[in-house]
Amino acid sequence: MATPTYAPSDTPLAVAELVDTLSDGTKVMIRLPRMRACGEKDAKGKLCAGHLKRWFFFGREVKEKFGDDAEIYRCEHCRTLYLPNPEEQPRTGTLSY
Ligand SMILES: [Zn+2]
Repeated sequence: MATPTYAPSDTPLAVAELVDTLSDGTKVMIRLPRMRACGEKDAKGKLCAGHLKRWFFFGREVKEKFGDDAEIYRCEHCRTLYLPNPEEQPRTGTLSY
């Protein structure tokens, strides 16, 4: 089996990186490559696993931080926001899911 080129050599368990927290407490993460489900855990440590959907209705705070037409995904379950993974873009361009 081929080793994925994006993986650092010895990351034990990949976790999405927290990049920002909005003033209302919404967390903003960077998606892992090909990540399609939310990796947040609730207070009991249960994985959220909500679907990440492209989201266009972000407010001014998000626009100021990430641009007017930023590519934002939102977990439909816990509302955590996700930015696309920068390593993923050169290969795939616009994500189709
Ligand atoms: Zn979630």
